Amino acid sequence: MTPQPNPQVGAAVKAADRAHVFHSWSAQEMIDPLAVAGAEGSYFWDYDGNRYLDFTSGLVFTNIGYQHPKVVAAIQEQAATMTTFAPAFAVEARSEAARLIAERTPGDLDKIFFTNGGAEAVENATRMARLHTGRPKVLSAYRSYHGATSAAINLTGDPRRWPSDNGTAGVVHFWAPFLYRSPFYAENERQECERALQHLEDTIAFEGPQTIAAIILESVPGTAGIMIPPPGYLKGVREICDRHGIVFILDEVMAGFGRTGKWFAADHFDGGIVPDLLTFAKGVNSGYVPLGGVAISSAIAETFARRPYPGGLTYSGHPLACAAAVATINVMEEEGVVENAARVGTEIIAPALAELAERHPSVGEVRGLGMFWALELVKDKETREPLVPYNATGAANAPMAAFGAAAKKQGLWPFINMNRTHVVPPCNITDTEAKEGLAALDAALTVADEHT
Ligand code: PMP
Repeated sequence: MTPQPNPQVGAAVKAADRAHVFHSWSAQEMIDPLAVAGAEGSYFWDYDGNRYLDFTSGLVFTNIGYQHPKVVAAIQEQAATMTTFAPAFAVEARSEAARLIAERTPGDLDKIFFTNGGAEAVENATRMARLHTGRPKVLSAYRSYHGATSAAINLTGDPRRWPSDNGTAGVVHFWAPFLYRSPFYAENERQECERALQHLEDTIAFEGPQTIAAIILESVPGTAGIMIPPPGYLKGVREICDRHGIVFILDEVMAGFGRTGKWFAADHFDGGIVPDLLTFAKGVNSGYVPLGGVAISSAIAETFARRPYPGGLTYSGHPLACAAAVATINVMEEEGVVENAARVGTEIIAPALAELAERHPSVGEVRGLGMFWALELVKDKETREPLVPYNATGAANAPMAAFGAAAKKQGLWPFINMNRTHVVPPCNITDTEAKEGLAALDAALTVADEHT
């Protein structure tokens, strides 16, 4: 329901926020958070009555949009019957969520360890891999984001790692494929794939295969730029892992649960990739209540069959979060949400973005699938110089800030990371909403064009 405008309440909410809320990733006095009055479906409202189409899905988690009535009802019902219960017990919502998730994850990933979000899933997946193999090191890609807790931020490759990097023993970074800014000077996808796999082999050889517990990769790296792996890459990594007894962890925290137009992004590539561990969060229950987890292969589950797993969380498999997951997955099935993401991605978003790339000098490349797209904004299409320098802040970041402000003026809330904007709306977005957002994006890009 559209909330009534109420600027006074908005001002009070904002004042309390500024007085007491310490925000993530922010210089506390440099931010101006919007006070949000309400949200429904693909939209949210501020207290002045402005409506925004959310092309960010929150932080890429509201895969079924805001306030889905069936999920809200399921949370209310769970709260009325069993709001909470400790993890050591069998609880209906928890067992049912685990069953529904295991049925959808690839291959034999049939056991689910629940966490409260993505970073904890990554922490536990790497711990399982180390215990399973008895080896210390984990390899991850430079262009990656795996979370902000201790091990997860060290595994993360992007510059957000830098201030917190304590050089955790055993984390080694490597380059994964990205043809548009190829770390291997490749000219086509086949070369990029071959060289990336060779580089990974070389990294393993020099680190010592017998010291490497796991390789962790996002199936489609999200925060770092929505880079679709070239055909053969993930299969190649799978083979390398098998050859060296290394655990293959796919991080599907952002790409999972319909985002790419399949249940998991791994299902798209090379006939379907089955990792040994798969991390998830976000879309599992559209972020209505914090939930994440690790889906575990039978071989790794066997390691802990008669030996305790030395890890746990007070709220592991919280009934409210699990009830929301059960309802979300059922809604996704009943309403064809995954199919909708695939169809709108292919029929509406892909051709519209290709057309924007043709017309706007600031759009260097568009790439993606389903409801998972990135536009790479550049000063110059030929040289591919980014519209703002890597990791830019303040005045250096002004062109991206101007683009963001222009989008908001058009009623579009954009996802912006460095020199990119990501088109990551809810997976159940309607055709009309998608077209409305794309038209606003078109208008905002004319502002980015001024900086080329
Ligand atoms: N892995 C990936 C691929 C992610 O995108 C994220 C969050 N953006 C995380 C892990 C961390 O998840 P959380 O913020 O829930 O800890």
